Amino acid sequence: MQNMVILGATGSIGASTLSVISNNFEAYSIYALVANTNVDKMLALCELHQPQIAHMVDANAAKLLQERLSPSSKVEVTTGEDELYAIVTATCVDTVMAAIVGAAGLMPTLAAVKAGKRVLLANKESLVMSGRLFIEEMKKSGAQVLPVDSEHNAIFQVLPESEQQRIGFCELKEAGISHILLTGSGGPFLSSELSSLAQMTPAQACKHPNWSMGRKISVDSASMMNKGLEYIEARWLFNASAEQIKVVVHPQSVIHSMVQYLDGSVIAQLGNPDMRTPIAHCMSYPQRIRSGVEPLDFFKVGQLSFLEPDFTRFPCLALAIDACEQGQEATTILNASNEISVAAFLNNKIKFTDIAKVNENCLSHVPKQALNNIDDILALDVQSRIYATEWVNKI
Ligand code: NDP
Repeated sequence: MQNMVILGATGSIGASTLSVISNNFEAYSIYALVANTNVDKMLALCELHQPQIAHMVDANAAKLLQERLSPSSKVEVTTGEDELYAIVTATCVDTVMAAIVGAAGLMPTLAAVKAGKRVLLANKESLVMSGRLFIEEMKKSGAQVLPVDSEHNAIFQVLPESEQQRIGFCELKEAGISHILLTGSGGPFLSSELSSLAQMTPAQACKHPNWSMGRKISVDSASMMNKGLEYIEARWLFNASAEQIKVVVHPQSVIHSMVQYLDGSVIAQLGNPDMRTPIAHCMSYPQRIRSGVEPLDFFKVGQLSFLEPDFTRFPCLALAIDACEQGQEATTILNASNEISVAAFLNNKIKFTDIAKVNENCLSHVPKQALNNIDDILALDVQSRIYATEWVNKI
């Protein structure tokens, strides 16, 4: 029996994780569910899953949840930073699903890593912001980090076992690997007229052709910033150089990524686009459990196609690859700026095409001071958000 904490329980990954748990209730128990403000959803989850603890980051939301829970409920409601760290580091906890969206996920995820937990990593922003420190902490504590992001999970699945055992420190060349082929669908605007992109609405950007996801990652998929963040995530997780990673656009989202070996072999992981597959894989690794996902029907899929990424259409992808070359200061700035610009787009304050403009401006103008510890990273994150907000206001 694995005792789990789900960070981001009210979100899309949270829902998929709880669905996998429901299919395998004899093997998993829920110690705590964590969310920010969504009381309605958390209330429903508490009634259905009966966790020991329901933690709301927002104190008012915690108060409301407490009032709305039935007096006979055994669920303990908590709030506060110290309480959250106590939850993820509790000795009774085996596994932490890290699925808070954005930079807000960094500190609790890092706390779980430092405590040596088995960490199922969906929050890619943690690695984009703190890659080196994150990997060093993993090494110190012996935490097992398993990638939930479907692409990284696919890569993990087709790596030799030797490399699966040294995530963060892989020796790709030694293992006979020439390239990691990171696939991406190209999102909803892959074949839209370039001139129409400035008029695209949040609803259109969030309508992904294959995946059902939270709003921030959906917009990131439409701009291919998501692939850029994943590129950075893959560089850290698999200790890969720029030459060792290629982005391949694959509109059907059936191949979730591939590894190309020196002898010419290419090994891919395929499946229906449903996050319950990589989540179930991480939860049960190295065993397999039922995820509830329909088996892939090749006759329905029919065709698989591949394209080179178009950096004119997707400037955010180019920015992320470039930031990764510049170093961790640049990726921290880009991550913060992108959160602000995407939120502004979702609130109808800027156009879809302005997201890349804000991000590019932040990358060029925010001073890149050295990042020696977590405080430096958080300070640069705050500074970048201030600059990005100013830039949004100018637009
Ligand atoms: P959602 O927007 O659906 O859910 C976000 C979750 O994070 C909610 O539970 C939300 O709580 C919580 N949250 C937001 N802000 C805070 C905060 N300040 N403190 C604590 N909790 C907070 O996101 P997704 O599930 O789509 O994505 C989660 C993460 O997983 C992201 O990093 C994303 O990149 C990654 N990911 C997602 C995939 C997907 O298919 N959805 C695929 C691969 C990776 P509340 O509801 O109360 O606001």
